[in-house]
Amino acid sequence: MADVSPSASGNLECINVRFWGVRGSIPTPTASHLGTGGNTACVEVQHSSGSSCILDMGTGAHELGHQLVTQSKQEPLDLHVFLSHFHWDHIQAIPFFAPLFHERNSVTFYGSDLEGAPFDLLNEQMSVPFFPISFNNLAAKTKQIVLKDDEPVQVGKLTVTPFPVHHTQFVFGYKVEAGGNSVIYCTDYEHGIQKYDERLIENASDADLLICDAQYTPEEYSKRIGWGHTTWERAARVAAQANVKQLALFHHDPGHDDIQLGEILNAAQQIFPNTLLATEDRTIVL
Ligand SMILES: [Zn+2]
Ligand SMILES: [Zn+2]
Repeated sequence: MADVSPSASGNLECINVRFWGVRGSIPTPTASHLGTGGNTACVEVQHSSGSSCILDMGTGAHELGHQLVTQSKQEPLDLHVFLSHFHWDHIQAIPFFAPLFHERNSVTFYGSDLEGAPFDLLNEQMSVPFFPISFNNLAAKTKQIVLKDDEPVQVGKLTVTPFPVHHTQFVFGYKVEAGGNSVIYCTDYEHGIQKYDERLIENASDADLLICDAQYTPEEYSKRIGWGHTTWERAARVAAQANVKQLALFHHDPGHDDIQLGEILNAAQQIFPNTLLATEDRTIVL
């Protein structure tokens, strides 16, 4: 389904944001959850020029990989993957990402080195006995780029700028911009540390779309302080404070079924009316 934001009018350039995985922590392929989606975090951001980047590679990236290979018609793919951090729900599809198994393709991974070199971490999840093919033996050409706070990277027409987010460990949020449009990806965020809360508001200020962690209800959060996630209520208040145009609630709790998420959406809209649920296969046009 496609939603057209107010900023799309009169602007020839546009950014498509497609959700391939919206669930947090663990995939939930159960019937009661599939209206929203059961795959873990993966978002594709594509500019109308064709420039694109992938934000995280949770299990949603499995289907994305197949689609990219099919659409490429055997032409080389040059892909750019920005990892927020290395929890499994953000990297688990890497060993099953079809473009990595074709030598004509190039995949550049971007991330922080604060918890060890990104390639070492990715190689560990693919080492015996966890997986039979090592990261270093993948057919595609792979590259690692270590990012620093607030230092932008250019991917074609897209400018991608990382900023630090408070979680149980280091996380990068990403601001992706092109042609005056912007999307903020802020997954795995727990509020409460002023300097990080301020950085988020600053980065999200006037953005066209804020994709924000909304894992818990306020009642759940009161029992899970320090678990690294925030609430739908906090996400809605951040959206209002930062004056964003749209908010997408993201990183849904694996325990929340479609009915509960519908109730969460209604509640969030009472605080920030232009709120939507990130749902698998949804595309938002900015
Ligand atoms: Zn996560
Ligand atoms: Zn995490």
